[in-house]
Amino acid sequence: MKYVLVTGGVVSGLGKGVTASSIGVVLKACGLRVTSIKIDPYLNTDAGTMSPFEHGEVFVLDDGGEVDLDLGNYERFLDVKLTRDNNITTGKIYQVLKLSALLLELVHKNLGQFFQIFGLPEDIKFVIDKERRGDYLGKTVQVVPHITDAIQEWIERVAMIPVDGKEGPADVCVIELGGTIGDIESMPFIEALCQFSYRVGPGNFCLVHVSLVPVLNVVGEQPLVENVKEKLSKFCHVPEADIVTLYDVTNIWRIPLLLRVGYSIAGEPKLDEWVSRAEICDTLHEPVRIAMVGKYTGLSDSYLSVLKALLHASIACHRKLVVDWVPASDLEDTTEKEAPNLYEKAWSLLKGADGILVPGGFGDRGVQGKILAAKYARENNIPFLGICLGMQIAVIEFARSILNMQDANSTEFEPDTTCPCVIFMPEGSKTHMGGTMRLGSRKTFFHVTDCKSAKLYGNVNYVDERHRHRYEVNPDMIMELERAGLAFVGKDETGRRMEILELPLHPYFVGVQFHPEFKSRPGKPSAPFLGLIAASCGQLDALLQGTTRSNQLPTKNSPSNSVSKPNACQTGNTKKPAKSLLEGSFYSNVG
Ligand code: GLN
Repeated sequence: MKYVLVTGGVVSGLGKGVTASSIGVVLKACGLRVTSIKIDPYLNTDAGTMSPFEHGEVFVLDDGGEVDLDLGNYERFLDVKLTRDNNITTGKIYQVLKLSALLLELVHKNLGQFFQIFGLPEDIKFVIDKERRGDYLGKTVQVVPHITDAIQEWIERVAMIPVDGKEGPADVCVIELGGTIGDIESMPFIEALCQFSYRVGPGNFCLVHVSLVPVLNVVGEQPLVENVKEKLSKFCHVPEADIVTLYDVTNIWRIPLLLRVGYSIAGEPKLDEWVSRAEICDTLHEPVRIAMVGKYTGLSDSYLSVLKALLHASIACHRKLVVDWVPASDLEDTTEKEAPNLYEKAWSLLKGADGILVPGGFGDRGVQGKILAAKYARENNIPFLGICLGMQIAVIEFARSILNMQDANSTEFEPDTTCPCVIFMPEGSKTHMGGTMRLGSRKTFFHVTDCKSAKLYGNVNYVDERHRHRYEVNPDMIMELERAGLAFVGKDETGRRMEILELPLHPYFVGVQFHPEFKSRPGKPSAPFLGLIAASCGQLDALLQGTTRSNQLPTKNSPSNSVSKPNACQTGNTKKPAKSLLEGSFYSNVG
């Protein structure tokens, strides 16, 4: 196993994650298998309880791990599926030690024999074994060596987990150390990684330090000129040839292309697909306007995967994505009274959009505004996609407007509502927030096959998508809602949990209880997003019928192989070998 460590200096937010992912892309393009680990030195156990406002979105993995958004970059760039252990935090390291301490106590009480008989996870066994040999008795537990050892063992163990669907470990593990060098929290990790580099040997470990080279008195950075490289080389003891300049580019898909310069690790990296995608992204000009009606508007990191999924779908439809941020609460009547200009602005953005997206969320701020946005989309035939909370509010809106249930609400916002159409799920916890939601990959079965979603997903029996929620559509209200015209086309394996809703007579009105954004990939757009974008730019019918519209497609300078099939990794169990619409001629032509 070769290790590449990426650290950051001067300031955070330089794009260390994108740099690390791009290094992975270049290595992968050289034919190597790549995995990655993100270290977040904060004390939290995971990102699950952290505010998207401060830290950006919480990315959800197949195994239900709630992790830093950088893992999303790795999954998208490398097309891999990571595990929760690929994100190391100080909290997790201490948890292992705490567990070990607890087990030590049990050993002392002779209960440890139980574990000796039934087995323990390797890293915990390690501590117990050491204790049995007497290594710890009477000793102080210290950062060095106890924490630094636990970190190194974790890295070595997790690096071996295959993440690309193939057997056996990857060839290279890219490790990104969050924060910047000098942070107090990072110190044990830096010490552990120093020891680790020594342990695995110089041929197996490489350090990449990402730093800002500012231009004084100007906002921006410099493409490094020779004398700057020379100076950096002298001061940092790094050969000039190893200093790479990653200045701002038009889109992030150009970063792997910048990194390719001067390197030939295992031959020339095959990055044609990345070149095409980067070119296409820059040449699109016809816009598709999507109104994002959310709580954290303007903070793109809070909805990073949703934006990426929109972008992947827009590129597939050859449209330039324009996102109009609509603060949900600005659509509400109270804003009309208190800040009429904000109200006007929000409504004019909403009304000017080709499509409307209401993303996931928690808490009641802006909920009424989201309900109004769903109502507007439903009544005016505007393409609409509601994700998680977005689906729940679409149900509330439908119940209020169509079933005349004025008190319809979610018990999340009104615990005593007389008309609970969204309710708390029995398996959740109301007292413990961390890791207690319905999390990770679950199956959704299509109960109605003649619907837009089933077709968009390629007529499969079920899809595997990632979840993160505590509330669900009240199963006792389904019959009434369905009778009034709301179609629940996708359900879980029990048939009692609603996963996908549609309004059959609307051009595109879809709600999903899961988060399809987490599995969207460049070149493999997620089906519900593709539906939204295609409907928003008048291409949905053609897409669903599989007809080509070559007259609309740019041909010059737009390589046709840049956009491949939509996300096949999330679909399963094809009912018949019937050609998926997504793989149809439409796609091979739009490229
Ligand atoms: N707050 C809602 C729930 O817990 C929706 C969650 C979400 O949008 N991720 O069910």
